[in-house]
Amino acid sequence: MPKYIDADKLILIEKRAAKNAWNKHASPKCWSQAIESFIEDLEKAPAADVQIVLHGNWLLTYKVVDEFIENLIKCPFCEVEYPVPEALSNFCPNCGAKMDGEE
Ligand SMILES: [Zn+2]
Repeated sequence: MPKYIDADKLILIEKRAAKNAWNKHASPKCWSQAIESFIEDLEKAPAADVQIVLHGNWLLTYKVVDEFIENLIKCPFCEVEYPVPEALSNFCPNCGAKMDGEE
């Protein structure tokens, strides 16, 4: 699973590092050292509290009930089925996936 970070917080950390640690008395010896330091800060940065939003489209399906065909829609992610009027909804009530056609 990818790690998401708060870019604004990381920028503040890097600005402080540039101001405090990398002054004219203690500057990095070369660009690779500065980049290694930045990568260490990226690795140490706490994960941001985010939720991944899935995007897709309702799948059309059906089931036979007492010899009658009932049209349904199915979420492509959690596979929960709903009666067709739910097709007007732009999100899955079960998993929260957005049914906006984007992927
Ligand atoms: Zn769903």
